[in-house]
Amino acid sequence: MKIRILLFLLLLLLVSGCFSEKKPVTESWGIMGTVAGFSVPAKDSKHLSSYSSIAKSTFTELDQSLSTFKPESEISRLNNDAGVRPVSLSKHVLEVLNMAVKYAKLSDGAFDPTVAPLVQLWGFNGGTLPVKPLGDATISSVMELVGCEHLSISNNVSYLDSAGMKVDLGGIAKGYAVDVLYQKLDEMNAKNIMIDLGGNIRCKGLARGKKPWKIGVRNPIVTDQIIGTIELTDGIAVATSGNYERCVKIAGKTYAHIIDPRTGRPVEGMAGVTVVSDSAAKSDAMSTALFVLGLDRAKAVLKTIPNCEALFVPAEEPLRILITPGFARNFVALPAFAGRIEIIK
Ligand code: AMP
Ligand code: MG
Repeated sequence: MKIRILLFLLLLLLVSGCFSEKKPVTESWGIMGTVAGFSVPAKDSKHLSSYSSIAKSTFTELDQSLSTFKPESEISRLNNDAGVRPVSLSKHVLEVLNMAVKYAKLSDGAFDPTVAPLVQLWGFNGGTLPVKPLGDATISSVMELVGCEHLSISNNVSYLDSAGMKVDLGGIAKGYAVDVLYQKLDEMNAKNIMIDLGGNIRCKGLARGKKPWKIGVRNPIVTDQIIGTIELTDGIAVATSGNYERCVKIAGKTYAHIIDPRTGRPVEGMAGVTVVSDSAAKSDAMSTALFVLGLDRAKAVLKTIPNCEALFVPAEEPLRILITPGFARNFVALPAFAGRIEIIK
C-alpha cells in the first residue's frame, strides 16, 4: 500500500510541476500506518527542515496517544477499561473524541468512532480474517457493542459502558493531526506550506509564484490515474475515502475497510469520496461519513453542513463523477473525464 501512496505522491508532485517556476520541495516519511509529506515552495526551502521536524514530532506524539495499535496509547487504555472504569484523557484525545461524536451526530450515525468491534470482525485493524462469509446472527451480536450512546465524555474522562466496546479513530485522527500541525505552523507565521498525511491535505499560502497549491484527485477505479485537479486556497483541506485503500478477501469476495454501522457490513456501491472543507478533521470524518451514506442520503446531510463540498465516484461502470457545485468551482477534470462529470444539487 505504501508503494501505491508513494507513487501517488509522485503523481501529485507531477501535477504541481505544471507551472514554469521551480517545483516545491518536499520531505516524506512513514507515520500512523501511512506516508506523511510536507512541502514548501522552492523559494522557502530554508524552512523545510525546521517545519518538517515540527511535523514529525507533532504526528509522532499524536500517534502515541490516538493509535489503537499501541497498547499503551490513551485510546487503548480507554478500550481496555471498557465496562470497567472511566479513563482520564489528555486535551487532544478528548478534543478528537468530541469531534468524532459530533460528526457521528451530523452524519446520522454513518460515521461512528465506536465501530471498531465491527471493523475487527471483518478482519481489519488487528481482527482475525473470517474464513467464510459472516452470518446475520454473528453481525447482530457484534452490533450490540457499537453506538456512541455507550461512549460518555465529560471534563477530562471518558468511558465505554460495556466490555468488548472499542473506539477506532482511523476515520478522523489523521485529519485532526493535520489541523493540529497547521495551527502550530500558523502561529509561527509559516506562510506557504502543504501538509499531507496519507491523503489528508491542508494548504496555506501559495505553491510557487502566484499559483495556489494544486493536487490531483485519484481515479478510485483505475488507481494510478487522476481524474482531475483541485486548487486549494488558504486553510482549505481535502480528504479522500476509497474502497481501494484497504481490502480483505473472504471466500473470493473483496470487502473494503469502511463499515456501515447500520448494517454491520462493509460498504458496497461507493468507490471513492473526496471532501473539501475548512478543516482537515472535518474533511477526513465527512469523507468517511459520505462514503457510508451513499449518494442520496449524503446529499441531504451535506445540506446541513456549511463549508463542505464533495466529489463522489460510485462503484459502477461506466465511470460517473458526481460533484457538488462548490466542489466544481475549484475542480478541473482531465479532458478524458470531462464528459463524465455530473453536478449534483
Ligand atoms: P478513512 O480512510 O478516513 O475513510 O477511514 C477509514 C477508517 O476508519 C477505517 O480503516 C476504520 O479504521 C475506520 N472506520 C471504518 N468504518 C467507519 C465508520 N463507519 N465510521 C468511522 N470510522 C470508520
Ligand atoms: Mg476519513
